[in-house]
This record gives sequence, structure tokens and C-alpha cells, in this order.
Amino acid sequence: MTPPQEGVAMDGEALIAALPQVRGKLQPMVPLAPYTWLRVGGPAEVLFSPADAQDLAAFLRETPGHIPVTAVGVGSNLIVRDGGVPGVVVRLGRGFNQIETDGRVIRAGAAALDARVALAAADAGIAGLEFLRGVPGAIGGALRMNAGAYGRYMADIFVEAQGVTRAGEIVLFTPDQMSFSYRDSAPRDVIFTAAVLKGAPDASDLIHARMQELMAKREAAQPVKDRTAGSTFRNPAGFSSTGAEGESQELKAWKVIEEAGCRGLRLGGAVMNEKHTNFLTNAGGASAADLENLGEEVRRRVMAHSGVDLLWEIERIGRRED
Ligand SMILES: Cc1cc2nc3c(=O)[nH]c(=O)nc-3n(C[C@H](O)[C@H](O)[C@H](O)COP(=O)(O)OP(=O)(O)OC[C@H]3O[C@@H](n4cnc5c(N)ncnc54)[C@H](O)[C@@H]3O)c2cc1C
Repeated sequence: MTPPQEGVAMDGEALIAALPQVRGKLQPMVPLAPYTWLRVGGPAEVLFSPADAQDLAAFLRETPGHIPVTAVGVGSNLIVRDGGVPGVVVRLGRGFNQIETDGRVIRAGAAALDARVALAAADAGIAGLEFLRGVPGAIGGALRMNAGAYGRYMADIFVEAQGVTRAGEIVLFTPDQMSFSYRDSAPRDVIFTAAVLKGAPDASDLIHARMQELMAKREAAQPVKDRTAGSTFRNPAGFSSTGAEGESQELKAWKVIEEAGCRGLRLGGAVMNEKHTNFLTNAGGASAADLENLGEEVRRRVMAHSGVDLLWEIERIGRRED
């Protein structure tokens, strides 16, 4: 939410002493690598696991504005840099992972895994959320990123979201306010805490069968068992309000990467995946710097080869160590 301050040494204990009392948990200097798919990066100066939305709101209200606050989900679209993340990292856990269905509507906490939400919708005979089954994030990250797959996006199923602003206000967001675009949504400096989503009625077994098909398609095309953060770069050019255009563009990131000769390109423990060239992979022992530097090298080579300026889809947070 607030950009990290450069050059100030991190001291989690001292920071906790300056923070308000909470009902949840504040922990100093917590390694973040285990909380991410790429398994790299340094610690959070303070990791905050709020008890509920009220706890988060009171905390943000009373936390001085100069202290950086960063939200993380389950780290499936993140590189945490090696120097760690100064300030407070908020990771929602128990208290934010409930899922309820009611007619065609699903209410989910922001820590609920996308896959669990998709399965709950299928069990309840609610169609249209099948695409979420294979997205390995949680609902907060899906709202932030307008997660999508196979032509469907969060924007298509969104009713409203609850979030807490940096000033500690609990706010409801309408579709207009979310202003979804390709792998993005408008609200900044907000931690989403819950979402209301909708689908259409259908037979549960048919929905489950469609999800199985999508999963099989994904497993055939993507290195789902490797340490990656999904697509590294956005597909070049073209967004629409739902993001659909971004997916259907002729110009695919994997293709320009391939054409620039970057399949299998390696730097330290980082490699551009052989199975899917847009998947930056920790092949073992990579640092965050290896991964980020390899990504930048791929951007340079693609620019030199085809003139395409690849933009990162993976979010990078924290400080570099070098
Ligand atoms: C194998 C693999 C396949 C993938 N396939 C897809 C795919 O098909 N489609 C797709 O869209 N993505 C895909 N991804 C990327 C990723 O799963 C999505 O971007 C996902 O929505 C990120 O959710 P997360 O909880 O992991 O968020 P994180 O990676 O932890 O965070 C991502 C961003 O969201 C923000 N954020 C997280 N939680 C909150 C919150 N509660 N409030 C506010 N901001 C928050 C973070 O600050 C950060 O900016 C894939 C990733 C992997 C590893």
C-alpha cells in the first residue's frame, strides 16, 4: 500500500512497540519465502494476521501513515525481494476464509482459496466460476489482479467487495468502483476482506465435469507443479473492461519470448520454463535477484528482437539486497 522506505534498517521488535494493540497476531521479522509459490525473498519487518475486518480497520486507523503497509495473499503472483519488506505485511488467515452460498450468490472471505470457492460453487449448482478452480491464489489477490482464465474473469462474476482503506475505513466496492481491466482493478491502498460473487444455475455434476476439463487443459499446457508465479509478463497490447481482449490478442508473451530465443534461458537458479516460456521458474536455489534479473534480461532480449516492451504481471515487493 505505502512504498517501502529505502535505506532504513529493519527492526521488527521496535516497530511492533510503535504499533497499536490488536486482537490478531503481530510477529517480528517473519521470513516470507515459505508464503510464496517461488519460495524466495527476505522477511517481513512485521507480519500482521488480523482477527477480522474490524481488527484490521482499527489497526490501520491507528497506525501512523508513514509506516508502509503491504498486503499479500498466498503469494502465487509475487516475487518478494531478498532484502525483505519494510513496515507491516498484512496476510489474512483464519477469520477471512469462510465461504457461503445462497441461491446463485457466493460470499467468500478474501483469504478463501479460489479453488475452494470454485468447488463450493459447483457443489451448490452455481455455474460460471469454473475458471477459478485452477487459479492458485486467494480471493483478495483475485480481486486485485482481476484473475481470469479461459476467457472468464473476476469481472464477469463480481457483485461487490469489502475492503479496508489505509485510513482504516471499511468500504464496499461496486463493479464501477472496481473498474476491472486486464489483470488489474482500480482500488489502490485497499486491503480486500471479502467478496460477493454470482453465477448461473446448472447441474452440479456438469459444473464439476467442466472444471475437470479445464484442469486437464491447464496441466497439459502449464508447469503447474514447478515453483513459478504463473505468467511472468502480461500479454502485450490490448485491454478491455473485463480483460477479455488482453487474453485473445494474437501477440502472446510466451510467443515473443520464444522467438527471442529465451526458452530455457537460465540465471543462477532461475530459468524460463521449458514447458511454458512465460513461466519464470525457481529451478532450485534461486534468489529473488536471480528471478528478477532474468526477467529483466528477457525483457531486453524481446525488445531487441521484436521491439515489444514486455510488462511484468508478477508483482515485486520489498527491497533488493544488491
Ligand atoms: C501455476 C500458476 C498458475 C496461474 N494461473 C493463473 C491464471 O490462470 N489466471 C490468473 O489470473 N492468474 C494466474 N496465476 C497468478 C496468480 O495465481 C493470480 O494472480 C492470483 O490472483 C494471485 O492471488 P494471491 O492470493 O496469490 O495474491 P499474491 O500473489 O499474494 O498478491 C498478488 C497481488 O495482490 C495483492 N493482494 C493480495 N491479497 C490482497 C488483498 N486481500 N487485498 C488487496 N490486495 C491484495 C498483493 O498486494 C499483490 O499486489 C497463476 C499462478 C501460478 C503459480
